[in-house]
Amino acid sequence: MPFESAFLIFFAMLEQKIQPTPATPVQYIKGIGPKRASVLKKLGIETVRDLLYYFPRDYIDLTRVENIADVRRFINSNQNVTTIGTVKTFDIVGRPPRQRFVAILADETGTIPLVFFQSVHYFKKAFTAGETLAVSGKVTAFQNRPQIIHPSIDRLMDSDGKEEGFLHTKGIVPKYPSTEDLHNVKLETKGFRRVLRAALDQFIDAVEEFLPNNICKRHNLLALREAIQQIHFPESYTILEEARRRLKFDELFFLQLLLAVRRKIAKLGSPGISFRVESKLARQLVDSLPFRLTKAQIRVIGEVAEDMCSLRPMNRLLQGDVGSGKTIVALTAMLIAVENGYQAAFMAPTEILAEQHYHTLRQFLGSLPVHIRLLVGGLKKTLRKDILEEVRRGSAQIVVGTHALLQEQVEFAKLGLVVIDEQHRFGVVQRLRLRQMGFISHSQTVYPDVLTMTATPIPRTLSLTIYGDLDVSIIDELPLYRKPIKTMVKFESQRRVVYKFLKEEISRGKQVYVVYPLVEESEKMDLRAATEHHYLLQKETFPDLQVGLIHGRMPSEEKETVMSAFKDRKIHILVSTTVIEVGIDIPNATVMVIEHAERFGLSQLHQLRGRVGRGADQSYCVLIAPDWMARFRHADSVTGVDDELRDRQKADIRLRTMLQTSDGFKIAEVDLDLRGPGDFFGTRQSGLPELHIAHLLSDNAILTAARREAFQVIEKDPQLRLTEHASLREHFATNYSEHLKLLEAG
Ligand code: ADP
Ligand code: MG
Repeated sequence: MPFESAFLIFFAMLEQKIQPTPATPVQYIKGIGPKRASVLKKLGIETVRDLLYYFPRDYIDLTRVENIADVRRFINSNQNVTTIGTVKTFDIVGRPPRQRFVAILADETGTIPLVFFQSVHYFKKAFTAGETLAVSGKVTAFQNRPQIIHPSIDRLMDSDGKEEGFLHTKGIVPKYPSTEDLHNVKLETKGFRRVLRAALDQFIDAVEEFLPNNICKRHNLLALREAIQQIHFPESYTILEEARRRLKFDELFFLQLLLAVRRKIAKLGSPGISFRVESKLARQLVDSLPFRLTKAQIRVIGEVAEDMCSLRPMNRLLQGDVGSGKTIVALTAMLIAVENGYQAAFMAPTEILAEQHYHTLRQFLGSLPVHIRLLVGGLKKTLRKDILEEVRRGSAQIVVGTHALLQEQVEFAKLGLVVIDEQHRFGVVQRLRLRQMGFISHSQTVYPDVLTMTATPIPRTLSLTIYGDLDVSIIDELPLYRKPIKTMVKFESQRRVVYKFLKEEISRGKQVYVVYPLVEESEKMDLRAATEHHYLLQKETFPDLQVGLIHGRMPSEEKETVMSAFKDRKIHILVSTTVIEVGIDIPNATVMVIEHAERFGLSQLHQLRGRVGRGADQSYCVLIAPDWMARFRHADSVTGVDDELRDRQKADIRLRTMLQTSDGFKIAEVDLDLRGPGDFFGTRQSGLPELHIAHLLSDNAILTAARREAFQVIEKDPQLRLTEHASLREHFATNYSEHLKLLEAG
């Protein structure tokens, strides 16, 4: 059965919807009118279900409340202590770098300072004198007096002054995120709680269990209703943990169910090509290289060859850190295809990169009798026509290009292999289309082998879990002579030192990249635009040097001119936006300066750093960070209570990770941790659902259990037709249909 129709049948089956889950709009909950509903909508809460699944960010323990005088006993005990008092005074004290916000809390037995080192201005606005607070945190001593640093805080009084009843002053109390908008409609933490209580009272009985009974039993899971109630208003910490475990299990179970379905579909796939893999061309190529392949490269070439030899279409992901030499691996695979009489397509995410690959490949090929062509947008009409014709006739044996390769007019005579470089940069639809560029042979569609490559590796333990049926090869070794890149963080106020250093490097004949996050000044973010800064660098800082500029919105011819000038060393400093992020290979460039480094994602920083250190000389990566980071208190994990602090902690962790390691796997792990899977893998690209409560790394045990169960379910009942799977199927169809559509493209 052809690949797509198998999928469509499965999908049509899911579309026959049964009853929806509590999909009632939130307005039907007591206490929510149109105004509150519209604020909630901004948080992504539209239905009762959305609200019930909006879990607390934190809890405050009011089961045991200490008098303020007794708090002293807990100094350095590392226990969370809760106390209640009224705010006497508060202010920002000291000056940077010791600046902090201090509020004095009092009850009839004494007073205690609450101290905040972060977000001092935020806290100054957030406090009111005379209000009653419950605070919870660890007690430390300052000049032998107890204090609580960064306590978790709960307001015990309404903004209109009314004391709250038992709901908020007893037990373990949930805390929900607060925003300005929520505050305006009195849905701050307390109002939010009240609304949730109402939602639970009104709707919890409509929540239906979807996990089969035997799975719940086997893993000792709380019933769904119980779990949802307990995560919001837990009776004890023990049962809270159980509630969390159940809800994590659910998320991971459906993630795995999606993967199990995808694997099932892939197995129904069409035939591919069985290549003869002893290739004279490939042998000649390897013999002509100016270097020796690393062991890892040789192993991976073997894995690829094995796939190509088999009749099943290859679907392999090649992971290898920046600079590990993936291109040459791809080229040997392409030569195998060519020698067997097929064409190979090599797709890169940007024109600059396609261009570069084209030149590199030609250089590698040297005098080998292989005809290679470059197909990008913006070619002269006649040239484009000629190339298209060669592709159609099959005389263009290797075709390098961008997604221009995907256009309707591009027709391959006999496409045997598709290589996708930097696969994470492509959308899912583009990848799907490439994979479907099969050809008809003996009235049957034959699908090309697909090799995708990425320098954004994912932790080993996860590749199986996430990619399901995709085979993964890893190049875990860099070519020998590489010197580690020296990485440093410099702050805005140290700019002169950086420029002096650049001058020195350039006077030794080296070249420099300077990268900016955006092309144009954006109102919200005070980013210095690359264009503007290029002007300043050229006119004021380095009037005697050549400073070039390249960015994504330039016409491609212009980009090409700039790139080749840089390659020919006519430009000393290349100012750029992230268009050079992936793949560019210019060994004489030894310094990478990243402006506003705090705004870049970790994988992106790692990619950018990988643009240098490609020759035998010592290379450097300079991360320019704002001055506030110079005195930032480091945290090992993201603990901030407000978004601003959380963002700052994340930025701090990213830069420190860059300083600590250059191991792409380690970096990917931290990146995944900071961003969550949906963002990390790109939800749109991977079709993975966002995880709200489960954690791919630390919840590994639950993940493994959920995976086993999910795969068993699909194995036994691929279309979820059994009565015992009826509610499972309904839940899957209602909540995951979009992901199913995307996942299929892999
Ligand atoms: P990436 O994996 O980041 O795509 P490339 O394929 O661009 O890496 O390779 C980076 C550089 O290393 C290129 O200049 C390439 O020619 C060179 N290279 C590749 N393999 C080896 C090797 N085994 N020994 C030395 N240099 C190599
Ligand atoms: Mg590359």
